[in-house]
Amino acid sequence: MSREPFHYSQEFARQLDKEDELARFRDEFYLNSESIYMDGNSLGLLSRRAERTLLEVVDAWKTQGIDGWLQGQYPWFYLSEKLAALSAPLVGGSEDEIIVTGSTTTNLHQLVATFYKPEGSRTKIMADELTFPSDIYALQSQLLLHGYDPSEHLVQVESRDGRTIEEDDIIAAMTDEIALIILPTVLYRSGQLLDIERLTAEAHARGILIGFDGCHSVGAVPHHLSKWDVDFAFWCNYKYLNNGPGGAASLYVNRKHFGRLPGLAGWFGSRKDKQFDMEHQFVPAENAGAFQIGTPHILSMAPLIGSLEMFADAGIENLRQKSLHITSYMIDLIEQELDGMGFTIGNPRDDLRRGGHVCLEHVEAARICKSLKENKIIPDFRAPNIIRLAPVALYTTYDEVWETVQRLKAIMLEKQYEKFENTRDVVA
Ligand SMILES: *Cc1c(COP(=O)(O)O)cnc(C)c1O
Repeated sequence: MSREPFHYSQEFARQLDKEDELARFRDEFYLNSESIYMDGNSLGLLSRRAERTLLEVVDAWKTQGIDGWLQGQYPWFYLSEKLAALSAPLVGGSEDEIIVTGSTTTNLHQLVATFYKPEGSRTKIMADELTFPSDIYALQSQLLLHGYDPSEHLVQVESRDGRTIEEDDIIAAMTDEIALIILPTVLYRSGQLLDIERLTAEAHARGILIGFDGCHSVGAVPHHLSKWDVDFAFWCNYKYLNNGPGGAASLYVNRKHFGRLPGLAGWFGSRKDKQFDMEHQFVPAENAGAFQIGTPHILSMAPLIGSLEMFADAGIENLRQKSLHITSYMIDLIEQELDGMGFTIGNPRDDLRRGGHVCLEHVEAARICKSLKENKIIPDFRAPNIIRLAPVALYTTYDEVWETVQRLKAIMLEKQYEKFENTRDVVA
């Protein structure tokens, strides 16, 4: 695929689509022919393969009832493990270090309940001031459960520019009062990709455990969690991984921690051969399966079977290459076409420091987003001033990126956004 320089014409965009080796995957998705979807980093679209595996699992329920646990194409009793194996190449873990279970936030609770062991003067948890609110609420409540005041025991590393967090600042905050660090892989607003390997090494050099929230990177960016020696990670599957609204999430626990008692135990964390002994003595699985709690959400996992098969076909390295290329194309076009209109690119420019979406800042962002929707472009808005645009490698075309920027230009030139109020909707 040709790298820069880009040309500023629709013909050029269409030429890039012709050269795109991943273009065949687009036909596998349900796309609305009327609109351009730029929100796959918030809720990925439905693919035909995900729909098919969902319907197959519904059919197993229809025809087999309780026997679906052990019979049929995807026996439910082993589905969490099957999906873990399919997820392994995306995160660089071995299949027994991963399990598909729960939600992002409940998995964070489980992992903090397991790995946060305050001792002596090492009692604090470190996060950053730009992280996703649910993660902060979970950490605050975990501290309260331990009898600590979150205003003293939750250290949030500050941002210098309101967009990104400097790794040097994170490392400087790794004092001997810190017991545990939780950071995002990619920041949900600016799209900054942190140096996971470096931060992990620095934390370990100081005797601190470290875990990552991969919601905004898994499915867009390759990971090597085991090679990097990350202690644990957790992520949702409904953003880049297209598992559907509220679909089951995932967690990773480094094998060196196998055998740790889960902080929150439940019968699905049992060794699988022991689970149905129904003993009151809990025998945890000797792998990441131990961190499951209750019965898996089978219908909310079924689409992921088909979806992860597509990722295996496409290859995460290929997806990353296209993602970097199409986002840099979008950034370039924005700078060329929207110059002087008050926009700022909020994401880092360096390929090693950015995830899968473009962060566009503007003081009128809320109503520009409403105007984009009226123009059949689906972006998302993050208060107070961010328009997130995610051209997704599996299904977005270069032509759509071209169209998006052209419609945005018309919105600005004609001041179309002025007819809306500059406030967000209930779900932004
Ligand atoms: C999307 C997202 C979540 C969502 O958590 P849920 O439990 O799935 O609602 C949490 N953290 C980050 C960083 C996210 O991007």
